[in-house]
Amino acid sequence: FVEIRHAKKSFGTLEVLKDINLTVERGQIVGIIGSSGSGKSTLLRAINDLDPLSGGEVWLDGVQVNKSLPHRQYEKHINAMRQQVGMVFQHFNLFPHLTVRDNVTMAPKLLKGISNDEAETLAREQLEHVGMLEKIDAFPSQLSGGQKQRVAIARALAMKPKLMLFDEATSALDPELVEEVNQVMKKLAEEHMTMIIVTHEMDFAASVCDRVLFMEKGVVVEEGPPEVIFKNPEKQRTREFLRKHI
Ligand code: ATP
Ligand code: MG
Repeated sequence: FVEIRHAKKSFGTLEVLKDINLTVERGQIVGIIGSSGSGKSTLLRAINDLDPLSGGEVWLDGVQVNKSLPHRQYEKHINAMRQQVGMVFQHFNLFPHLTVRDNVTMAPKLLKGISNDEAETLAREQLEHVGMLEKIDAFPSQLSGGQKQRVAIARALAMKPKLMLFDEATSALDPELVEEVNQVMKKLAEEHMTMIIVTHEMDFAASVCDRVLFMEKGVVVEEGPPEVIFKNPEKQRTREFLRKHI
């Protein structure tokens, strides 16, 4: 469903991704762990070509995302691809001047041309899903970090994405707010949303992921089911990383 083949990325002379291969089946949840600077965010951003690869291919549902096309055609192609991928980042990137409702409805209205009534129904549905319906009229500044992240998830879901990408969605939150966001992600997992989750929360990754990748210095050192990666990893480097992070 998602396929990354021989992904390479350099910033100047710094090789950030070195021949990464990754396949995610439809409905699978893949976790990515690794030290700071190992290339996790770069890999995630390459999936919808926000950080174009220096080499290699990204495929989503049978279509190559990073194909070379004349500029105009590429713009059209990549916008269509990005609409199918929801992204949630570490820092709540809600539009501060818009209400929760407008944050959720803006993209579908603009990009899918849905009516105001449809948008209202959609917003209510998605906000209900993340437990934020009561805050539909609030502005982001009136919300806690956990609430903002739940709205960010609702906003991504409103585009009905095929794939959700999470880049340390809970790492900027106070500890007591982490759980409410994790619960929403768990719910999506139960609904078989295809997800790639970059996280430093090993317990969460172990409980929600079908597979976990450990990255270091731009390579996938080891990957496997969480039972193996967290309890019985093969590689010395994985053991060292986990010793420091569990
Ligand atoms: P963290 O856990 O801290 O978020 P990460 O695994 O997500 O780390 P990346 O953000 O992917 O790491 O960065 C990988 C490497 O690429 C780092 O050394 C970083 O400094 C470098 N890098 C990332 N973006 C750029 C950029 N736009 N220009 C130059 N170097 C970059
Ligand atoms: Mg990162």
